[in-house]
Amino acid sequence: MLRKKLIAGNWKMNGKLEDGVNLARAVSAAVRKLTKPQCEFLICPPFTLLYSVKKVLRGNKVALGAQDAHTASKGAHTGDISSEMLKDIGCSYVILGHSERRTNHGESSRVVARKAAAAHANGLKTIICIGETEKERDEGRTIEVCTKQIRNSMPAGSQAFNTVIAYEPVWAIGTGKTPTPQDVEEVHAAIRKAVAKKLNKTIASRMRILYGGSVKPTNASEFLSLPDVDGALIGGASLKAEDFMAIAKSVY
Ligand code: PEP
Repeated sequence: MLRKKLIAGNWKMNGKLEDGVNLARAVSAAVRKLTKPQCEFLICPPFTLLYSVKKVLRGNKVALGAQDAHTASKGAHTGDISSEMLKDIGCSYVILGHSERRTNHGESSRVVARKAAAAHANGLKTIICIGETEKERDEGRTIEVCTKQIRNSMPAGSQAFNTVIAYEPVWAIGTGKTPTPQDVEEVHAAIRKAVAKKLNKTIASRMRILYGGSVKPTNASEFLSLPDVDGALIGGASLKAEDFMAIAKSVY
């Protein structure tokens, strides 16, 4: 298989210690029961839960990721967490440039690229999020916006083994609204072209591009069966182990 599908959960700012540990235990137990997993699993809890969740996942096939990381490795950056620190406690992935960070923290694509370069230098794989707003979509600018975000958010030196793209239309996140599968396939194909232009064709053909935005057990197979969709980044539905696993089963 050229690109093994990735099923990734973004827990966002949810979960106290007990909730997080219980959710991680439930996911971990369900994954352990799969005899031949057809996809890779990743969960991205909030910073406060990473270390406890890591202990639950130890020896399991579920990878651990964070939801942001600073551009620097250490220093006077109150309230921030570095890629070096995340790697040290057992993370292998970090989500960068999620639309909630772009909107709520004013993160530009250039900042995302600097964060991604730091993450790669520290041995983390990045999930770089891109996606258009509803206004941009209505103006027919989806592909233009997404290709520009790809160009500016992916640092030079990105490779298929250390970079995953997540296409998340901003208007589909947490709203229950989704693009049509045809629209998703069209945007993913355009993203792959943009990656080929920025890096090269071989890397583009191997790089995973996830779809994210109101993915649920009931609609997951529509997206996961598309040729250019290599997995899903799941917000709300990743907070219930049964839903998360039901989405993963759409890959089979
Ligand atoms: C997300 O936050 O990355 C996301 C896709 O959220 P939801 O699945 O809740 O739309």
